[in-house]
Amino acid sequence: MEQLKQAIRDIPDFPKAGIVFKDITPMLSNPETLAQCINAFKDRYAGKGIDTVVGVEARGFIFGAALALSLGCGFTMIRKPGKLPYKTFQETYSLEYGTDTIEIHQDAIQTGQKVLVIDDVLATGGTVNAAASLLKNNFECEILEAAFVMELGFLNGRDKLGGLPVFSLITY
Ligand code: AMP
Repeated sequence: MEQLKQAIRDIPDFPKAGIVFKDITPMLSNPETLAQCINAFKDRYAGKGIDTVVGVEARGFIFGAALALSLGCGFTMIRKPGKLPYKTFQETYSLEYGTDTIEIHQDAIQTGQKVLVIDDVLATGGTVNAAASLLKNNFECEILEAAFVMELGFLNGRDKLGGLPVFSLITY
């Protein structure tokens, strides 16, 4: 995990003063660290009966789609408003910087499916809490866990997730 950690770059004061943005682009552009990341998730989730990996826009798509492919399961998108073309369910939430709404297609998850939620960063927990609520309020599915490349532990985001299990490759 040390090489993975080294490949994530801190960008101070982006997108606004006081935020230290965790830039994953160096990690993604290096085939070794990209593979380490996806393989670490695969090691944890292979054989767990996951039907679909649910990725949160936008960086959750990168890790979610790659992991779904390597697990041999489906991939589902949670997107920002107005992006999904079919009928949607919605949830509004607060970010570390600002507020937003997320949507999912009404036919995205089937009753009884086991899902894994994935995103790049767990910060305040608002986004993934909203994603979990979106799933719980609208579908009869089992959320196995919420998975992240990294967790900003000092923001205590996992305490906001109502007991949803959390797994992070890297913790700051
Ligand atoms: P939160 O809802 O506060 O847990 O924020 C998580 C979302 O915001 C994730 O989708 C991240 O992509 C993004 N995010 C929040 N804080 C940061 C950060 N310091 N660096 C990079 N991305 C962040």
